[in-house]
Amino acid sequence: MLSVAEARAQILAAARSPGDPEMVALADAATRTLAEPIVARADIPPFANSAMDGFVVAPGPAERRLRIAGEARAGHPLAAPAHLGEAIRISTGAPVPAGGEAVVPIERVREDDGWITLTATVAAGDHVRGAGEDVCAGATAAAPGTVLGAVELGIAAASGNAQLACAPRPRVAVVVTGDELIGAGEPLGPGQIHDSNAIMLATAARRAGADASRLATIGDDRKATEQGLAEALEGADVLVVSGGVSVGPHDHVKGALAQLDVEERFWRVALKPGKPTWFGTRGAQLVFGLPGNPVSAYVCFALFVAPALRAMLGRSALPQRGLARLGAAVAAAPAREQAIGARIEHGPTGTTAWPVGQQGSHRLSSLLGAEVLVSLPASARETAAGAEVEFEPLPR
Ligand code: AMP
Ligand code: MG
Repeated sequence: MLSVAEARAQILAAARSPGDPEMVALADAATRTLAEPIVARADIPPFANSAMDGFVVAPGPAERRLRIAGEARAGHPLAAPAHLGEAIRISTGAPVPAGGEAVVPIERVREDDGWITLTATVAAGDHVRGAGEDVCAGATAAAPGTVLGAVELGIAAASGNAQLACAPRPRVAVVVTGDELIGAGEPLGPGQIHDSNAIMLATAARRAGADASRLATIGDDRKATEQGLAEALEGADVLVVSGGVSVGPHDHVKGALAQLDVEERFWRVALKPGKPTWFGTRGAQLVFGLPGNPVSAYVCFALFVAPALRAMLGRSALPQRGLARLGAAVAAAPAREQAIGARIEHGPTGTTAWPVGQQGSHRLSSLLGAEVLVSLPASARETAAGAEVEFEPLPR
């Protein structure tokens, strides 16, 4: 059986960008990933301007008395140049007139009848913001792979960009399998359960930056599975299937995928939960067969599918891992690495990872509120409270 690290390496080796960058208007670009850098088209700020409400004056000593010769307001530059020996009223953000070298704030003058008297000395450059002081024209404000948030979009707008080249969103199809599944809100018949995985996996895929709009449920029947998976594969960059990848007589996913020319790359990972995880490719399409148990499905999404989506988007694929002390003992899992949902607490003596709820691949409440996945190496003995463990953030 592959280790988690080996399985991830195989997946990342197969992950490609699904296409050319697309130009996206700033208003639609939040959470998208930059495919090309944000390059400033103009200086920010575009011209030297005042940082204060005050007066443009020549540098010099206090107690000078100067006549107010004009006014520059934000959005209304003064056409005339500044003259030594006179003052020009100026608002924050207004262009400093040609020849102006310094601004004295309004709080540092006495004003009477068209004249000011300075109450402080003024040095060259005081309260003047130079052109390009924030970002120079031609400079790179954000690099490819950056996930666009409020600040990046603000910089893009300030630097004269109305749209940005973003990585195309991988198109993810989510298929859940199982005769027992019915939709949310429908009354349960005998032996039925409500499907939790379709909404969970689609939401996780969207949050990871994918376009996950196509969902389907298929029963445990070989022909139906083949047909449902064939349809799901059409136009998808990534197919995520839940359930039906174990060894039971009603598990048809692997056989159906083989029939559809999806080449198996691996089946089974030395991981608890998530042992039956299956991965294959058809051309550039990636296909994940995740176990149906909801915790296994989500953990495997986090460990295998999310990194693939990040790689396809040009983001850094594998999250940075941290170290913590385990808050409570965890039972042994011989021959399999364990992934356990935990909350992180930062205290004066260090970081503690508290496993959330009762462990069990069917107990989805064991991931409620979990911030990280703690990864424990395979061990024939329980891992004691206080043991040092690695963790990585759990996408939510
Ligand atoms: P399977 O991987 O198909 O053998 O399913 C393993 C367990 O997960 C069974 O108890 C299933 O009923 C359950 N299961 C499978 N798919 C889902 C789903 N979409 N939502 C909730 N539970 C599921
Ligand atoms: Mg099943």
